[in-house]
Amino acid sequence: MKLSKPLAPSTTIGIVGAGQLGKMIACSAQKMGYKVATYDPNPTSCAFAVSNWYKVAAFNDREALLEFARSVDVLTYEFENIDGPLIEEIAQDTDCFLPQGSKLLLLSQNRLTEKNWLSSIGLPVVNYEAVLSQDDLKKALTTIGLPAILKTTRLGYDGKGQIRITDSTDVTEKKEEINRLLESPCVLEAKCSFELECSVMVSRDQSGTIELFPISENVHRSGILHSSLVPARISQVIRDDIHLMARKIAEEGQLVGVLGIEFFIEKTPSGEKVFINELAPRPHNSGHYSIEACNFSQFDQHVVAITGRPLASIKLLSPVLMVNLLGQDMPLVKDIWQNEKNAVVHLYQKGEAKVGRKMGHVTFLDSTVEKVIKKADLW
Ligand code: ADP
Ligand code: MG
Repeated sequence: MKLSKPLAPSTTIGIVGAGQLGKMIACSAQKMGYKVATYDPNPTSCAFAVSNWYKVAAFNDREALLEFARSVDVLTYEFENIDGPLIEEIAQDTDCFLPQGSKLLLLSQNRLTEKNWLSSIGLPVVNYEAVLSQDDLKKALTTIGLPAILKTTRLGYDGKGQIRITDSTDVTEKKEEINRLLESPCVLEAKCSFELECSVMVSRDQSGTIELFPISENVHRSGILHSSLVPARISQVIRDDIHLMARKIAEEGQLVGVLGIEFFIEKTPSGEKVFINELAPRPHNSGHYSIEACNFSQFDQHVVAITGRPLASIKLLSPVLMVNLLGQDMPLVKDIWQNEKNAVVHLYQKGEAKVGRKMGHVTFLDSTVEKVIKKADLW
């Protein structure tokens, strides 16, 4: 359903999911004069600290979600691992605005549906096969070849729910792990020998206007985003390709709000080739740089779009490197915080600093890409 007029200040934005993304959406919304309510099953969710009120309940608790939707003016979600069909049904039953709609949410909740859809609209993804059983896996390994990656179709994040199959001995050695993964539907993907990973945040408002954020160049470590560099060091041809694909996804997916798209850039004998890795129908970790380095952040733009207002024209103000602070990086924080000039340290206040857990991020700004990228040496 569409908003017939923009949401006025002091109305309430309800965010399903209250982790760091919800927290940063909430901060943008409050800056603009909105109230914020958050909803999450985790009673120590970090976005609760910046919410006018919050609700602790399971994502699939129909009654609790209904009550939440009835108490807010507009609904949004901070990530895709919520109950998509339920939120769609509740938005309809309560007449609560869900400006983002559920098309992109439902598509991106399942890697297979997402890849099928991207292929159906003519966009490039790496070779893949659906895998529901050991037999399927055997067949898929023949068609896809090695190396390949077996992924659960649902609920994966930060590289979780993935097994790399490099050679035929892996299939035997990782048998137990593979069997566990195959308890739910999976997809086998060809491993892309990419030169570079990139992403773009695309925003679209209710009237169909599209605004793109600058493309970032991303480094992952153990499947988790380590850093994002902007502007990305890519050719104009690749930049144009990515922009075209992002616009197509935003239009065909009827996007309202912000969506992150991850890409692999592969060098082939005939030139560079772009593949879409995955979609995230909400602000994305690789867009955090925009808080300091753009005139409007991805969170600001998301709030503008879902409250029915016209999008901001996005401008990059400075070269920037964003580096995630995982649990094991916490000992570095004090030094960066005390000594690094033009560095902004964000800490989400999530409690225990477990290995691999995203505790915060740092944004380094400087006059050139060459200068900011040196900051990655601190890790
Ligand atoms: P998540 O949902 O956990 O982010 P991704 O599918 O994006 O899952 O995988 C995380 C990272 O693992 C990617 O950013 C990339 O570095 C690597 N990866 C995933 N799939 C592939 C692939 N098909 N080929 C090469 N690398 C991959
Ligand atoms: Mg990813």
